[in-house]
This record gives sequence, C-alpha cells and structure tokens, in this order.
Amino acid sequence: MEPLVDSYGRHIKSLRISVTDKCNFRCTYCMPAEGLPWLKKDQILSYEEIVRFTRVAVNMGIEQIRLTGGEPLVRRDLPDLVRQLGEIPGLRSLSLTTNGILLKQQAGALAAAGLTRINVSLDSLIPEKFAEMTRRDQLAAVLEGLAELERYPSIHPIKINAVAMRGFTEEEVLPFAELARQKAYSVRWIEFMPLDADQIWRKEDILSGAEIKAIIEEAYGPLQQIPLDHPAETARRYTFSDGIGEVGFINPVSEPFCSSCDRIRLTADGQLRTCLFATEETDIRSVLRSGVDDEALTQTIRQAVWHKELKHYIGDKSFKRANRSMSMIGG
Ligand code: SF4
Repeated sequence: MEPLVDSYGRHIKSLRISVTDKCNFRCTYCMPAEGLPWLKKDQILSYEEIVRFTRVAVNMGIEQIRLTGGEPLVRRDLPDLVRQLGEIPGLRSLSLTTNGILLKQQAGALAAAGLTRINVSLDSLIPEKFAEMTRRDQLAAVLEGLAELERYPSIHPIKINAVAMRGFTEEEVLPFAELARQKAYSVRWIEFMPLDADQIWRKEDILSGAEIKAIIEEAYGPLQQIPLDHPAETARRYTFSDGIGEVGFINPVSEPFCSSCDRIRLTADGQLRTCLFATEETDIRSVLRSGVDDEALTQTIRQAVWHKELKHYIGDKSFKRANRSMSMIGG
C-alpha cells in the first residue's frame, strides 16, 4: 500500500478521532457557558463505522490513534471501542484525551480494554480557579481520577495538558512543576489557540512556552531537553537538572510545528479534517453509509490528505478561524 502523504511530502501517521461533541465541562477557552447544540444520534458515527474507517486508515499507514471528544468518556461503552481498535493489526499506539472527571469510574475498564496512553486536561491546581476555567467545581474528582489511573501501569505515560493563558497560568506553573516531580506525570503546557466558540481569543492572552520555561528555570535551574520520540512530536520535553520529573511545552503559536505535522482528524459526525484550523472538510460519513467498498474509502482518504493544509496562519492577515470550535474538533 502506498504511504499516506500530502502534497508537501509529509507522511500522515497520526489520526485523532472525536467520538462525541458532548462534554460535561464548559471550559472558557472552548465552549460557551450554556453549551452548544449537540449533534443528533444519527449524525454521529457508530463504533462500527469508526472501526471500519480506522482499519482502512491503518492499512494506509496510520500508526497512532488518539480518541477525543468533547469528552470521550461520556460516550457509552467507550472501552468496547478501545478494545476493537486495539485489535487492528498495525496500530502502534492507542491513546485518549480526557478531562479526567470520569476516570475514577472508568480507568480500570480502559486499562483492561487495552488503552496504552492517556492525556488528562487539567489547567489549574487551585479549586476556585479550576472552577472559574471549567465552570465546574470538580478539581478533587479529577485528582482522584488521576490517583486511580496510577493503579494501572499499563497506561503509561500519564500526560497532563494545561492550557496556558496570560494572567491565569503564571501562579500555577511552579505547583504544576512540583506535581511533575512528585508524581510520574508528564506535565505539558499548551499555548492558547483561537479555537474558542466564544471567539474571545487574543494573541496577547498567550503565555508562551518560553515564558513558562523561564519561570521554572528561575526556581529549579536549567532544564535538560529530552530528545524527540519522533519528528512529528508536538511537545518539547525537558527533565529537571536532578533528573526528577518531566515537563513539556506545546507551542503551536510561538513555535509552529506544521512543517513536520503528521496528523489528521475525524470528527464525531464523520468529517475528515486535515488540519486543526481547516475551513473545509471531507464528508466521510456519507461515504461510509453509501455502500461503497474499502477501496473507494481509501481513495477518498488519499485525495483529502493530498490537499492537507501547509500550516496555520495564526497572526497572519490571511488567518481564517477554523469552521468549528475546539469541542466539535477534539483537539
Ligand atoms: S495547525 Fe494544522 S498543519 Fe499545523 S500542526 Fe496543527 S494540524 Fe498540523
């Protein structure tokens, strides 16, 4: 099978699958307080459709799958999907991004189903600020979920993703750095991106990875860079000078990594997005439900990927917001 490449020669190996647009949080950088009109059941891909699409995509060279949402753990029987995806020959990594609030109940079932990696979104370790950012007073439940996760070493590494925002994150940096040193969590900060449904994003609200790194180095001394696992890795990871703990910085705005991008995304309603900031999509749901064979599906994917966007244009005059907000894409 020919490798899956775009017109810029990038090999596409990573697929992010949103399994639902629903979420039990209302993060200010993502969703309005009142939520969004949810997709109807028949608009959402079934697990059978997701598995068929993934099998064809893995056959074309996709190696890594990440399940996202909304909040993926609100979709019923998610461990069944994890199990089915984990059985696809050629898949090398199966991960999940979650806000962590349902982890205490579901960590065991996810581990038993074969989940191998996890990203937990956690922007604050201060209960009041956590509630301010997520509009849910649930920090304790998320920390309990993380503690439960530690009981399943088959899910490793445990990554914590914190969205970094100026005027909010600065006082959180050292407590998170200390968490990374006390627990085997890899704590990473992600720069705030213009994907919020309320469209409140401003460039000046970004707290860059370099600024956060400087705060940590002022307290702990120089950080030691960890070599990339693979060229398309988005996080720049570091360990502390004494080797205890790992932190990372994902800087899509201040240090874009589009030139080595290997990612495509499938939305909960079956649209293929070849870039996080895409303004157009390919309707995979219609193809899946049209009765065509896997060869036709393969050609549809290959055609879409060939036209993958070169990069985002954040900060450029030509920048156009994505045609969906984050909760409808899945990060
Ligand atoms: S903005 Fe688009 S091209 Fe750039 S890294 Fe993200 S998905 Fe890839």
